Amino acid sequence: MKIGILGGGQLGRMLLQASANYVMETHVLENDEHCPAAHLCHHFTKGDITDFDTVYQFGKGLDAITIEIESVNVEALEKLEAEGVKIYPRPSAIRIIKNKITQKEFYASKQIPSPAFVVTQNREDLKKHKEFLPAVHKIGQGGYDGKGVLLLNRAADMDSAFDAPAVLEKKVAIDKEISIIVAVSNSGETVLFPPVEMIVDPVLNLLDHQLSPALLPEKTFWKIEAIAVQLVKALQSPGLFAVEMFIDKSEEVWVNETAPRVHNSGHHTIEANYCSQFDMLWRIMLNYPLGNTDPILPSAIVNLVGAEGHTGPAVYQGLEDVLKMDNVFVHLYGKATTKPGRKMGHVTIMHKDYSDLTYKAHRIKSMLKVITGSL
Ligand code: ADP
Repeated sequence: MKIGILGGGQLGRMLLQASANYVMETHVLENDEHCPAAHLCHHFTKGDITDFDTVYQFGKGLDAITIEIESVNVEALEKLEAEGVKIYPRPSAIRIIKNKITQKEFYASKQIPSPAFVVTQNREDLKKHKEFLPAVHKIGQGGYDGKGVLLLNRAADMDSAFDAPAVLEKKVAIDKEISIIVAVSNSGETVLFPPVEMIVDPVLNLLDHQLSPALLPEKTFWKIEAIAVQLVKALQSPGLFAVEMFIDKSEEVWVNETAPRVHNSGHHTIEANYCSQFDMLWRIMLNYPLGNTDPILPSAIVNLVGAEGHTGPAVYQGLEDVLKMDNVFVHLYGKATTKPGRKMGHVTIMHKDYSDLTYKAHRIKSMLKVITGSL
């Protein structure tokens, strides 16, 4: 089979690493010929994944296509699908998810619990909804990693809100943030990976580390699984889906958003689960049986992001000390230049004790820095 990936970042790179276990021909489309996935595929095409003609020409001779980012040209994928190319996930699912407005409307129409919201077209329009605060303003298209999300506690905060189509969503009193990855086969069979807890740094409001399997009361666990399955069934598409949810202080579960692809919250599955999220997506696309998602050991993930104040060729300070640690697995994405906040790699830690995972996650965060200049 000839299979294409739209986007050549770290998700594409790890997907290609897993592809080497099977027989196929891999193709990547991406603007940057030095991207993390460029040298791991059979055929690299330099081009814009948002351009109709580029995506259509890339996909024409392929058997199947998947994405590593939602901002792709959906119209070209629709045409390719009509001509017989299998797209994972289906373009209809990408279309719903790509824009937070249509994504929220989809949850409402399918009775999937997600925080109450109103759609706002611009900043003037937003200011008509002061009674809706405290709320979170989310830009319809183009947001990622928390960019495109603004907490509005009081009316004055609206002055700096997005002047573009967006959703204004009720603020949830979050107790835990969870992600659960669901695999859907061509025949509609589903399997779930264990839920992951995403621990956010309360000061920086950024992801600090992730723990898997999340420690949850059984009732909450069943609720999460039931909502995730209901959601992916409603999307009516094979593929891999990461459903991000909030558990509030009264143990209610709310869907935050869905990514229709492999996801940062599943990187630990490479070492810590029998079947990784990347292997699972190949199994789906190659029409093989779905894999075993059981954890081998509990695990943590620490994202390696570019340090503040450092822009330029990347140097990994503290790498050797981290590599000396037992059951710690380092992944560097091969991005030549670092900049503040850029995802440059991740580290997976495995241990039977959660206290050990948390301790090592904090330790690795303070030991390993992505900076510029000589060591
Ligand atoms: P992105 O798509 O950029 O990852 P998210 O929609 O996941 O953005 O929001 C980023 C973070 O903002 C979440 O992880 C959560 O901490 C916070 N957040 C988002 N929506 C809400 C909400 N309704 N109530 C409270 N906090 C929220």
